[in-house]
Amino acid sequence: MNEDYDVVIAGAGPAGGQCARDLAARGYDVVVLETESEAEFPKQSNKSTAGTFPSMMASFGVPDDVVQHYTDSVVLESPSDYYVQDQPGAVLDFAAFKRYLVEDSRADGAEYRFDARATAPIVEGGEVVGVTYNGDEEVYGEIVVDATGPAAPLAKKLGVSNLERENHAIGVEYELEGVDVDHPGFADLTDAMMLRLDHEIAPGGYSWIFHTGEDTAKVGVCYIQNDSHRKYAKSDFAIDDYLTHWMETDPRFEGAERIEGRHHRGSAHIQLPGTLYTDRFMAVGDTVPTVDPLWGEGINKCMQSGRAAAAAADSCLKHADVPPTAENLEVYDTLWHRDVAPNVRSRLLMTQLLYLAPNERYDKLMADLNRLDDETLAKANDGNKRAITKLLDLGDLPLLARFAGQRLRS
Ligand SMILES: Cc1cc2nc3c(=O)[nH]c(=O)nc-3n(C[C@H](O)[C@H](O)[C@H](O)COP(=O)(O)OP(=O)(O)OC[C@H]3O[C@@H](n4cnc5c(N)ncnc54)[C@H](O)[C@@H]3O)c2cc1C
Repeated sequence: MNEDYDVVIAGAGPAGGQCARDLAARGYDVVVLETESEAEFPKQSNKSTAGTFPSMMASFGVPDDVVQHYTDSVVLESPSDYYVQDQPGAVLDFAAFKRYLVEDSRADGAEYRFDARATAPIVEGGEVVGVTYNGDEEVYGEIVVDATGPAAPLAKKLGVSNLERENHAIGVEYELEGVDVDHPGFADLTDAMMLRLDHEIAPGGYSWIFHTGEDTAKVGVCYIQNDSHRKYAKSDFAIDDYLTHWMETDPRFEGAERIEGRHHRGSAHIQLPGTLYTDRFMAVGDTVPTVDPLWGEGINKCMQSGRAAAAAADSCLKHADVPPTAENLEVYDTLWHRDVAPNVRSRLLMTQLLYLAPNERYDKLMADLNRLDDETLAKANDGNKRAITKLLDLGDLPLLARFAGQRLRS
């Protein structure tokens, strides 16, 4: 077995898989270490609802075969109101999608080692030269990429990742059948991805129903254990209890049942990234983290970061006299902040403000969204401060004061 590669990638998720695809397509020797077994892949890491948009499908050439259901609107819901935005989307079969990334990069020559749990970087003379996996096995490369998601074993050991416990968001989802997607009194969720702000269901977070055709849907809950969560949480409730409670109390689930074996759970950190790279090393995807803080869109963002890392690696490896030192890999950091998550700071502030708001404010938010024009909303979504202030009013002063107080304390 070859033990010396151009690039060693740990983790075959959207970020690692896309990085491998781009590098293999450029003719580099790439190996991907994946902790799960190939026969079951992905099992534990089959964690995502995998709602995405045509821009992602087109930029990364993702085939229709991995789409579970096409959607044509995004719905935001509060306890007693909703807002509908026409927007085409696709809910992927996340497992099929992950397997596609493996097969497609393999076709261009990428190697995969399954049952290979990356444990530590190999450092010689102060430089990362490879990865130790499964305790005592080693593989060497000119550049190492940590794409293991929130596990981040290599980035943590190199002091690159600063993932913080208090920023850890958790999510769980069941696939259901027998869902009434067009129930009186609610928005019509036929061919829709719906996100619901309601502390009764997801204290300090949000819940969702993504239609997957006929009477089936992906239904889930996620939250971060923030002040809002502590304020609204029910005693002795774990995350699955919130999802069960929702299923028991929402009339849309009255005749619904779980589809056997179809449940997903996982986590991500909702925070600003720290350092993204060092000599001969880059961290991509949710190792950074890269997921969009507001609505958890991670697939597109993480693939973009994998692509940025591949471009940075290519910019060094194609020239014999440009070693992949931190200085020469800085382009990855530039691409990440410029193209992958240009508005991360304002989107994070919007997220923190949103989850701090009480349920009544969510109802008013829906009314505001229905009142404002599409252009202002698109700008607010991009983190434009003037557009965001149009969504605020005098009644928000106590909320903003609490927010400011919280920021001063942190
Ligand atoms: C419940 C839930 C719902 C979500 N819904 C959506 C959605 O609808 N749309 C969207 O765009 N995003 C969604 N996301 C976010 C999205 O799934 C993530 O942001 C994305 O999967 C992160 O990609 P990644 O490649 O960085 O990491 P991961 O997907 O975490 O992949 C990491 C890979 O590394 C492997 N690995 C871990 N440790 C090691 C190790 N030590 N050695 C080797 N391999 C290792 C894992 O097995 C896995 O295959 C959701 C996330 C969750 C948890």
